[in-house]
Amino acid sequence: LSAVDLTKATLENIDATDSKYEAFITVMRDEALAKAEAVDAAGIDPNNVLSGIPYGIKDNMVTNGVETTAASRILEGFKPIYDATVVEKLSDQGAIGVGKLNMDEFAMGSTTETSYYKQTKNAWDQTKVPGGSSGGSAVAVAAGQVPFALGSDTGGSIRQPAAFNGIVGLKPTYGRVSRWGLIAFASSLDQIGQFTRTVKDNAAVLGAIAGRDARDQTSSDVPVPDYTASLNGDIKGLKIAVPKEYFGDGIDEQVKATVRAGIKQLEALGAQVDEVSLPHTKYGVAAYYILGSSEASSNLQRFDGIRYGFRAENVKTLDDLYIQTRTQGFGDEVKRRIMLGTFSLSAGSYDAYFKKAAQVRTLMNEDFQNVFTDYDLIVAPTTPNVAYNFGANEDDPQVTYMNDVLTIPVNMAGLPGLSINAGFVDGLPVGMQIIGNRFQEETVFRAAYAFE
Ligand code: GLN
Repeated sequence: LSAVDLTKATLENIDATDSKYEAFITVMRDEALAKAEAVDAAGIDPNNVLSGIPYGIKDNMVTNGVETTAASRILEGFKPIYDATVVEKLSDQGAIGVGKLNMDEFAMGSTTETSYYKQTKNAWDQTKVPGGSSGGSAVAVAAGQVPFALGSDTGGSIRQPAAFNGIVGLKPTYGRVSRWGLIAFASSLDQIGQFTRTVKDNAAVLGAIAGRDARDQTSSDVPVPDYTASLNGDIKGLKIAVPKEYFGDGIDEQVKATVRAGIKQLEALGAQVDEVSLPHTKYGVAAYYILGSSEASSNLQRFDGIRYGFRAENVKTLDDLYIQTRTQGFGDEVKRRIMLGTFSLSAGSYDAYFKKAAQVRTLMNEDFQNVFTDYDLIVAPTTPNVAYNFGANEDDPQVTYMNDVLTIPVNMAGLPGLSINAGFVDGLPVGMQIIGNRFQEETVFRAAYAFE
């Protein structure tokens, strides 16, 4: 099979199935075929599993000459002039980007419903949300449109849609993967990661995108191991902590039971399991929405109608141009975050909100470090419930925000977190979350692989 044959078959399958799922904002037909031809001409690299393999890209990562929208109207028509580091790295290894995937606008949301462009459907039941914000990436992988896809995770946006679609999604350690070319939401929390159908594939993709990048000063120079080499199925003696706060009120009973059964399975494989406490968990959502929105309000200042994408028409003054462009270009959820963030950073509220939230973040980090002095991994549900109906939380954004209660703490502490399918409730997938200490992705993968 040539790279061109595989790419053509992938594009045909996307054409045939995407009216059902609506995962893609842009299909990179010409670019993908040109890349596949180049890979065939050079010869598929037998030593690189990604050589000649098609994949999808969340639409908040810039792609040279290919429209990149972050699912916002304000970036409509924006064609970047360079590739994000992750895209460049994958291309160098012969992987073939076939399209840009739908998401919540600027990655703000948990259902992909805040996209300006389309509504992606859950791979298992098209009446349910796909999760978010990387909903398109998760569905494209779960529905078999691509073998892997890139996503980003600021408060759960890889793990939650992976859980809702029954696949494997990893948010790596903060700094493990370069963010250069990722359209920033909350820079101290954002991390690029990958969706796959198997743990082994997931480990291979992380190995391909991880590592120091001089263009992202927060990227780490911790050496990148061969993540697939640690997958030996042996987890005897591994010490697993189960935080009681992650099984509290508000977490669906059937989700709890499914994940508890998964933990039993890890125990049967030889892991040692104990209950622990992460006492500041309950403050996570509130602190995250202050910190995340504050950073977003700053990062989104650049969208002024001058430099990128959409520009309002019939304006009289420069101020009017800014105001009209941003009023028409941003959706409701993005505006809500900009207002919340601007308020939290303003002189009169900084100490009471931003500073307090930053202090909470430190306490949450300490909670995790206390556990990791005695344990290798933390295991818990990924989400409080399985995928729900469209529009379910329309009237109250805070209900959606609470959905991130089990994923946000991991971003606050910069840890790696992986979601893997642990079973089904009413025909919908349940995610089990495996959390490691910083740069301990190998241990996370090892447990996930043994479990799978
Ligand atoms: N659902 C969370 C939010 O809306 C997380 C999003 C994300 O991780 N990008 O902010």
